[in-house]
Amino acid sequence: MANRVTIDALANWLKDKDDVVVLGHESPDGDAAGTALAVWHALKAMGKRAVACLPGGIPRLYAGLPGADEVLDTEAALPFSPKTAFSVDVSEQPRLGPAGERLFLSCEHRAALDHHHTNPGFGQVYFLDGDAAAAGELAVDLIDGLGVTLSRDMATCLFVAISTDCGHFNYSNTREKTFLAAARCARAGVDVAGVTETLYRTRSAGRTRLLGLVLSELELSPDGALAWARLTEDMLRRAGAMREDKEGVVNYLQEIEGVRIAVLAEERGPGSTKFSLRTKAPLNVARDVALPLGGGGHDCAAGVTVELPLEEALGKVLALAREALKKETRIFDL
Ligand code: 5GP
Ligand code: MN
Repeated sequence: MANRVTIDALANWLKDKDDVVVLGHESPDGDAAGTALAVWHALKAMGKRAVACLPGGIPRLYAGLPGADEVLDTEAALPFSPKTAFSVDVSEQPRLGPAGERLFLSCEHRAALDHHHTNPGFGQVYFLDGDAAAAGELAVDLIDGLGVTLSRDMATCLFVAISTDCGHFNYSNTREKTFLAAARCARAGVDVAGVTETLYRTRSAGRTRLLGLVLSELELSPDGALAWARLTEDMLRRAGAMREDKEGVVNYLQEIEGVRIAVLAEERGPGSTKFSLRTKAPLNVARDVALPLGGGGHDCAAGVTVELPLEEALGKVLALAREALKKETRIFDL
């Protein structure tokens, strides 16, 4: 049984553990990578034996983070046999990926730190704050609770974690505590312009070409409230892009004037399609589109993988999205 605890109780739990593997979710984003690295730095600062593992290893985009070269793939052989697993930014146990989940379950002690409303809770103990903008925001409190001084390296990783998940302090999840956590990182010496230029204001030619290919074929519903686009394996080849280059593409659909729900369908082989979903409150794509198909995420940013060819899967997702839009209209009509 997973036991929901306070952040201080989670820090106390972690204090007397050793041989720790810190884990993040599949398709790691800045929050998963940054938070996993920051917690790893903190554990090392306490003199513990620790390793950070991400499914597929560290994404190229985050390879410049301090400590990134020591991050292992969850499928790699570990330098020691971990006794403790600490999951960060993972909305449910299977999101650790098959190898990550096996690693998690192989540990005697298991805990999770997360900020996804849809998280049912897993591990023996977990801390969940669904109002936090990022797991990184919560990791600042965890590191304080551990009694570790926030170093520049930890702060750099956490600043990336926080700023990624709140759209650089633009999204509705940005709250006072988000700025306070970022301010702590700034006080610890983060080079804000340097870090953000590499991460958010530089993109490879392949990524830029992919953006062009995907967006040039976007489609809109007749009322303009629903936008969707396809990212095919052929487009990846033509653009000379990598899978991780799709991060952020869905936002361009969501930013089209009048669009309420944006859907990006990514072909993953002949029988599997991964969806990125975005909306604006009061609509909820996690509840109305992702969850019915077995996915999850946040109210306004969710995802799901449907084990069907792209067009068939897209049909199912668009039907649910249209229902969600219709339901909202009915609420306004009351
Ligand atoms: P993205 O569209 O950026 O891949 O994901 C947006 C959000 O949805 C993230 O918070 C992510 O954790 C969640 N998400 C994406 N794909 C899945 C999925 O297949 N299952 C679940 N449960 N959540 C997902
Ligand atoms: Mn996150």
